[in-house]
Amino acid sequence: MVEPKSGLCATIDTPDGVEIARQCNARGLNLTHIFNTHHHFDHVGGNLFLKEKYGATIIGPKADSGRIPGIDVALGDGEIFKFGDYDIHLIHTPGHTLGHCAYYIPDEASVFVGDTIFVMGCGKLFEGTPEQMFGSMAKLAALPDETKVYPAHEYTLSNAAFAMTVEPDNPDLNQAAQNAKALRAKGLPTIPTTIGMERKTNPFMRAGTAERLGKIRKAKDHF
Ligand SMILES: [Zn+2]
Repeated sequence: MVEPKSGLCATIDTPDGVEIARQCNARGLNLTHIFNTHHHFDHVGGNLFLKEKYGATIIGPKADSGRIPGIDVALGDGEIFKFGDYDIHLIHTPGHTLGHCAYYIPDEASVFVGDTIFVMGCGKLFEGTPEQMFGSMAKLAALPDETKVYPAHEYTLSNAAFAMTVEPDNPDLNQAAQNAKALRAKGLPTIPTTIGMERKTNPFMRAGTAERLGKIRKAKDHF
């Protein structure tokens, strides 16, 4: 992501440092920042390589600061930091991990959610409880409907197939599942989604109670 006025450039997580550097070079970008959502290796694996190469500043959630390689700035829930002209809000979204966070950028009407929400799905509860994930979902669901949602993984088709078993009679979900199939058949991404779309189609965001979210998550684990 680039803030156009200052030219500051951030990657959200670092799944593959070499590939991210290649993309930056191809576009003539100087990577100034890394925003980490959580400590899993497929999200922080390129941190040190990119920090060394670009001198990038690494920002991450305070609750995970001991587990994020090279972290420079650790922020808590609701803290806002400047990124050029943009105000970026860190939202603590525990559940997938205890320290997990999302980055909300009102100026771009975008939120980067890591492994908290996927399109029509949610992350596995590796460390947190259903109650925590329920609270995290509620925080994200409260963002404006038009907010673009960028999950870290393209797991949409599998999530859509599972979501249809939870809400077989949801017309919005049926339509979204068909759209996703058509996009993937053309080799196109289904990301970003929007908060409004997830509120209509995501069975985890629509669970209503933490207990039901926990049950749906368990069923997905064995799907
Ligand atoms: Zn993860």
